[in-house]
Amino acid sequence: MRNDEFLLEYQPIWNIDRTAVVSLEALIRWQHPEKGMIYPCDFIPLAEESNLIHEIGDWVIDRSCAMAKILQSTFTQPPKVSINVSSLQFMRGGIDQKLKTAMSAHELDGSALIVEITESVLLIDQQNIEDQLLNIEAMGIQLSVDDFGTGFSSLSYLKKYPIQCIKIDRSFIQDLESDPEDRALVSGIISLADSLSLKTVMEGVETDAQLALIRQYGDPMIQGFLYSKPMKGDKAIDLLADFLELKQ
Ligand code: C2E
Ligand code: CA
Ligand code: CA
Repeated sequence: MRNDEFLLEYQPIWNIDRTAVVSLEALIRWQHPEKGMIYPCDFIPLAEESNLIHEIGDWVIDRSCAMAKILQSTFTQPPKVSINVSSLQFMRGGIDQKLKTAMSAHELDGSALIVEITESVLLIDQQNIEDQLLNIEAMGIQLSVDDFGTGFSSLSYLKKYPIQCIKIDRSFIQDLESDPEDRALVSGIISLADSLSLKTVMEGVETDAQLALIRQYGDPMIQGFLYSKPMKGDKAIDLLADFLELKQ
């Protein structure tokens, strides 16, 4: 943080036909002067253990809002920016207020943002968590459940909380072609989401064969290397500029 070595990359989330980018997920990286690029799996768990996640998380919210503002001022129909928020940030509390402050500093409204939470947040039975989620929804921010299906099997939270989207974890798709159980799970999750009127994102789509199978189950949004890898902010804007109308 002190040396300003963090950066955000953005991975486009496309509609299944790859004709529209629905959102960009902000993904943190640590550009280390000697070790090179360090990925979040190698430092977010440590940041959580050491409580630094709060400071890093605040930075992520601020930078993501700055990106959302650039998109809003560049395009007539800008995609949303999706922000990963750790369960520890929710447990400490005040995430709703932090989002509100950042949104007003960057002159944004909630429709510009998505907050990605993990199932573990939804299983903490505390008024404080429920209040934050309800306030976030009231600000017009979309709530997405990340890594869906990997955490716990309690699905009642889909009813209790104002969730609009689930993201099916990459672990379900890796062996989709060879594993009939994974196919049954992915197809089941997509129809569950459809019948609850939830949006679905399929994470980690890497091959045409995986995509062809997914098409048989529905039309979730697609996030994966087949369509786009995470990229620097300016590259993401260049990509969008190829097919979105620019503001005058
Ligand atoms: P996630 O939220 O599940 O994010 C998706 C991860 O899958 C990203 O890894 C992305 O680069 C990767 N991915 C996307 N498509 C593909 C694909 O087709 N193939 C493969 N092999 N990978 C794909 P990344 O950027 O390394 O992030 C890992 C995890 O770190 C994220 O998983 C998220 O849990 C966490 N993370 C990232 N940024 C933040 C942040 O700002 N705050 C917090 N609290 N956690 C973050
Ligand atoms: Ca995520
Ligand atoms: Ca995941």
